[in-house]
Amino acid sequence: MAITGTTVIDATGASPLRNVTVLVRGDRVEAIGSSREVRVPSDANVIDGRGKFVVPGFIDSHVHGSGQEEIDPPLFLANGVTTVRDMNGQSLLYQWRDRVAARTLFGPRYVVASSIIDGNPTPLAEGVPSIEVADAAEGRAAVRRAVAEGADFIKVYVRLKPDAYHAIADECRRLGVTFAGHTPDAVPLVEASAAGQRSFEHVYTNWFDTSSAENEIRRRLAKVSIKRGEYNKWFTETHPLEVLAARTFDPARAKKVFRRLVADGSHQVPTLVQHRVFDLPDSITVHDDRLRYLPVATRESWQMQLEQVYLAGRTQKDVAEHRELYRARAHWISAAHRAGVAVLAGTDTGTPYVYPGFSLHDELQNLVSNAGFSPMKALQAATSVPARFLGLHGVGVVRHGAIADLAILDADPLADIRNTQRVHAVVTRGALITADRREHMLRDIEAAATGGTLAARLAGCACTPVLQHA
Ligand SMILES: [Zn+2]
Ligand SMILES: [Zn+2]
Repeated sequence: MAITGTTVIDATGASPLRNVTVLVRGDRVEAIGSSREVRVPSDANVIDGRGKFVVPGFIDSHVHGSGQEEIDPPLFLANGVTTVRDMNGQSLLYQWRDRVAARTLFGPRYVVASSIIDGNPTPLAEGVPSIEVADAAEGRAAVRRAVAEGADFIKVYVRLKPDAYHAIADECRRLGVTFAGHTPDAVPLVEASAAGQRSFEHVYTNWFDTSSAENEIRRRLAKVSIKRGEYNKWFTETHPLEVLAARTFDPARAKKVFRRLVADGSHQVPTLVQHRVFDLPDSITVHDDRLRYLPVATRESWQMQLEQVYLAGRTQKDVAEHRELYRARAHWISAAHRAGVAVLAGTDTGTPYVYPGFSLHDELQNLVSNAGFSPMKALQAATSVPARFLGLHGVGVVRHGAIADLAILDADPLADIRNTQRVHAVVTRGALITADRREHMLRDIEAAATGGTLAARLAGCACTPVLQHA
């Protein structure tokens, strides 16, 4: 395959290469060079790349699979997302990962977490897969079991006690496995980072360290008592502490905290698109065009959650506080980014109104408009930075010998980050999805979604308050 006369943005931070030809053979980029120098074989499939922009395939570093293979995998690919990190492992997702690798499922490359490992009791609703561990021995056993079951890394959660948490960290170190997830209530961010946690999801439990009122926050946090399944109560009880943390952000403390994160090589995954749903529910469009790609049952459940969980019963004060929190979360990420902390773009699909594929592009826009990223830095947060983080060699870059995961865009993403949404064609491990085929895929997804028989097969997301079923 040859993409001729195009512009390549390789996401290393280097200037775009203009008027070049990209040659792909098998699943690799065989050559990139000036269109005068690169000889295009006569039997090559030639794509006219004039006026187009070739970037690495995108990586969404925080998703939850719905279990609907007619929906998520093709929707990611149609949006140029060629790798995803799933944050709550279940056997069906390990199967997807392995089938994609074997090319028997057409989808993005999957990197899949363990089931969520949490303290006992966990606030997670019954039905959300999780492993509750009460002490160090149970923590170690949970890590070993998860790895034996096929997890690529370990996911930790909010209610782990320090002894269980540190045993998990130690067992991961022993086995050479990465661990990532939420910052536990009982473990400060810097302590978790020093213990080896490599990514911190969202901006809620991880911003207490940067508050001048940290001692008071920790004292009050220690008193938060949650029974099994009291998921929304956890959000309600930590909400005032978040407001306090936002209002007492201390730049001098933050400087030390961020320096520590940089030194440890730990990453932040802001998921601003997910925070937006809960913080600014009145900004959600219930007639979004993209809903057509989601099963009818999903659309109904989303609308119900929006009305009954996110919008219901909010006072003017709640609305104002959440508006303030959303801005503060973005500012926190902006400060961390300026201090050199590595950021991964992630969305948290599974949250209502967070769309597989599409929402990653919204997140890039959030990073630029709300968190002060340059378009190049935003692009890197969805390509080269997560590829390195995940240890995927040859992914997340466009260069000689790289894996041919590419998004071909109709307009320049460095001129306006929203141009990442203008996906013309996609290459995934050397397989070309032409503009025509992409249209076909989207129509097929829409048909499957409208068929009416699809309901979510996996209880995925555990990052936003959920509708409590009786
Ligand atoms: Zn999540
Ligand atoms: Zn989460």
